[in-house]
Amino acid sequence: MPNGEDILEALRCSIGLVSLIYVCRLYIKLSNFPPTILPSTARTQLIKQAVNDRYDSSHTTEDIMMVTNMIEINKDMINRVLLLSDFNQNIIKLDINHITMDVLNDLILFPFTNICINCTKSLTSYRYKLIHVIDCFKIIRAIAVTAECKTCSLIYNHSSWYSLKNRWRKINKSSLNSALKIFYLCDSFAFTYSVFFDYTCQLLHDQCPFQAFSRILIDRYNYERQNSNINLQPIPLAKLFQSHWLLYQIVCFEFMLGRTQIVNLPVSLNRNELNYHFECYSGWWYHLFTTFWSTHKSIPNIKCCPSDCSRCIIVDGHQKCRRLVCSFKNIVDTSIEEMTAIEIGCPYTPCRRIQSSNSVDAIYCRYHQPSILLSPSLNLQKADDMAAEFSKWDRDFLSEHKIQCQNYRNDSEEIKKNKSYGILASYHPCGVAVGFTEAIKAEGMRSVTRHLLSMIINGCLMPDALMYDCACALKLHWNKWLGSEMLKTSTRTQQLPTHLALDNFHQKTHSRSICQTIMKSDHPSHEGRFVG
Ligand SMILES: [Zn+2]
Ligand SMILES: [Zn+2]
Ligand SMILES: [Zn+2]
Ligand SMILES: [Zn+2]
Repeated sequence: MPNGEDILEALRCSIGLVSLIYVCRLYIKLSNFPPTILPSTARTQLIKQAVNDRYDSSHTTEDIMMVTNMIEINKDMINRVLLLSDFNQNIIKLDINHITMDVLNDLILFPFTNICINCTKSLTSYRYKLIHVIDCFKIIRAIAVTAECKTCSLIYNHSSWYSLKNRWRKINKSSLNSALKIFYLCDSFAFTYSVFFDYTCQLLHDQCPFQAFSRILIDRYNYERQNSNINLQPIPLAKLFQSHWLLYQIVCFEFMLGRTQIVNLPVSLNRNELNYHFECYSGWWYHLFTTFWSTHKSIPNIKCCPSDCSRCIIVDGHQKCRRLVCSFKNIVDTSIEEMTAIEIGCPYTPCRRIQSSNSVDAIYCRYHQPSILLSPSLNLQKADDMAAEFSKWDRDFLSEHKIQCQNYRNDSEEIKKNKSYGILASYHPCGVAVGFTEAIKAEGMRSVTRHLLSMIINGCLMPDALMYDCACALKLHWNKWLGSEMLKTSTRTQQLPTHLALDNFHQKTHSRSICQTIMKSDHPSHEGRFVG
C-alpha cells in the first residue's frame, strides 16, 4: 500500500495540481448522486467536460477515469488533505486590540480604501469593533475595521469616511461598491444590500411598514436559529433599519439622478441629527427628483412613448397616507414670492403625552406647546393675516361654484382629528410621478397653485396642459387672481399650464356650463393634448 504522499504525487503527475484539486471537489460532490440518477460513465464525462472547459485542457476520458478511480480508493485521505470539509465548523481565533475574531468565520469589513482621499497618504492606526450584520435570514458576526489619516483627521470605514471634528460623513461610488455588498456607517450594526432589496420589493408590491418588516426579520432568524446570540426587539430594529434603508436609498438616488460623485450623510444616526439632515437636504432632493422625472422621456432606452408620455400633467390628491400633525394654525409659507403668504399648517407630529407629566399638550408639536409659545413677530403676524384674508376672499369667490360642482375643497377647511390631508401628487399620463407635496391642510386652489409653482421653482419642465378633478375651480381661481397680490405674474407663473381639463370620470359630476364645454378633455380647444 503506497503512502499518502506517493498517491498525491501520482495524481499530480497525471493531470497537474490545479486540475487535480478541481477534479477532487467535483468527484466528491457528484459521488453523492446514486448511480440510478448519475451513472459513473456520465459522471466521468461531466467531470472531463468541466475540467477541460475550465482550464482549457484536453484530458481524455481515460485520464479522468484513472484519476477518479484513485480518488475513490483514497477518498478518506483526499477528504482530509484537500477538501477540509470541516472548515466551517472550525474556529481559529485571533486577538487584536482586545477584540477576539474568528478569522475563518467572521466577516471582516475592511475600510473601502487604504489611502486617504484627501491627501493620498497611506492610512494608519487601524481599529477593530465587533458588530453584527443584518441579512435576510441570518445575523452575521463581523469585525468592522476603521483606519485613520492622522494628517487630515479623517476616519475611513467600510462604506464611508468621516470627520468627527467637523461632524460630517461622506460616501462615494467606490465606498458604496462593497464587494461584500454590505452597508456599514457606524455603531454596532451593518446591513446587507440583499435585506434592503428585500424590503424595497415588499414595499413596491404591497405596503410594508418598517416595524412589520422588522418583525418578519426577527421571526426568520428565530426559525432559522441564526440570530448569532443577538436578541433584537422589533421597535429598535425598525428604527435602525429605517434610518439605514433611507440613507442607502438616498445615496443610490443621488448617484442615479445627479452628476454627484460624493453624497453627504449625517455623522451619527442620532434622531435629531438625522431629522436635521433630512430637513436640510429635502429641497435639493426634490429638485433632483422633479428635474429628472419631468424630462424622463429624453432618457435613452426609456420604455415610455416619447410623444404621449409627458404631454400633460395630472394632479391628484391621495388621502390614504394621512398622518397625525400638529393643530397649530398660523403657519404660513412666504417662500414663494408670487403668492405672498399662504396658510400651510404645521407639518410636525404632535408630542406624545408622557405618563409622568401632564404638562404636554398632545395636539401640538414640540415647537407649538402653549407653555413655550412666544407671540409672533410683527412681520409674521402680517403674513398670517394676509394669508387668512386671501383664503377668505377665495372662499367667497368660489362659494357659488361649490354648489354647481362637487369635488371642490377649500383652503380653509379645518384639519379633521389632527390628521393631514395626505399627498398632492402630479404625474405624467405614463404614470411617472414628477412632483408631490404633503398637504397638511385641505387642498384648496391656493395649495394646488403652490404645489405647481414649487415644482417649477425646483426645475420641473411643466407641460402646458393639466388635468385635475377640480380643474374648473382652478381655472376660475387663476382667471380671477392672476396678476393680483394673491398671485403675482412672473416668468414662473407664465410656466403654469394654460390648457386645463377635468378627467372624464369626474366631469360627469360637474354641472357648470364651462364644465360641459371647455373643461372637457376632448374639447377642440385643447387640440388633442389629453387624448391618447
Ligand atoms: Zn489625509
Ligand atoms: Zn413617460
Ligand atoms: Zn406645530
Ligand atoms: Zn366644474
